[in-house]
Amino acid sequence: MGGEYTEETYGGVTALVGTRRGAYPYANSLLVQGADATLVVDPSLSLTAGAPPADLVLVSHAHEDHIAGLGRYDVPVHVHQGDLAALRSREVMVAAFGLPAEAADATDRMLRDEFHVTGRPDALGFTDGTVFDLGGRTVTVVHLPGHTPGHSGFLIEPDGFLFVADIDLTSFGPFYGDAGSDLTEFEASMRKCAEIDARWYGTAHQKGVIEGASEFRRRLTEFAGVIERRETALLAFLAEPRTLPEIAEHRLVYRPHVAGPHVEPVERRTAAQHLARLTARGLVTETEPGLYRTA
Ligand SMILES: [Zn+2]
Repeated sequence: MGGEYTEETYGGVTALVGTRRGAYPYANSLLVQGADATLVVDPSLSLTAGAPPADLVLVSHAHEDHIAGLGRYDVPVHVHQGDLAALRSREVMVAAFGLPAEAADATDRMLRDEFHVTGRPDALGFTDGTVFDLGGRTVTVVHLPGHTPGHSGFLIEPDGFLFVADIDLTSFGPFYGDAGSDLTEFEASMRKCAEIDARWYGTAHQKGVIEGASEFRRRLTEFAGVIERRETALLAFLAEPRTLPEIAEHRLVYRPHVAGPHVEPVERRTAAQHLARLTARGLVTETEPGLYRTA
């Protein structure tokens, strides 16, 4: 795997659009140039064949598709504190997926062989609001947790370009199925994005760059609507009492043809989060230990 990227210009920001419009395993990267320094955001698999030079690298979060081209950069790399341990060590990154032992070993090999992931023990941590001044152009960290604990966007000024990473507006919808994911935080992060007035909103995958706040908000509402659809599907399935493994097998997230060791754990964690909130709202009851139905 490798591939190439295509450049698109938005003010002083260059989107390095990944192979197949940045669909996984690819992703979209950014190149941001100031008078004094240049940085790259999320060096993807499409940068492994040839990467533009940069003085530093910012990583939106510690997932393999966002760092597959990181090996091309022998420069300082920065990520949010919440994902720092995972970027420093591939073992920690794999553990955050929350997979059974055999699947974790296979995933570790996949990250090493197909995504060229090696731990970056030299990685540095940033927090919400950290500013990288490139000279006449700044990049400000916008912490957007939920997908991962450290998942972050970047606001580039004066251009008005907000990179929202894996709040990616795809029809798949929000992903909050890792061991470190959090549905409630994901929702708060979407609200935070909606409040930022930018000219462009860059996503890390197929939807690319969206122009204008109103169009972005419209698409964000649609994207967030997937959460509601999952919840409606769960409530319908719980017309009969069901266990968590039964709900996971029925699936709320992946389509039936999708296979892989990640499917069951992701479905289980996603369902558990929805069950917890529906139970708290009195819409679902636990009729006996481990058995759920609509109230
Ligand atoms: Zn991700």
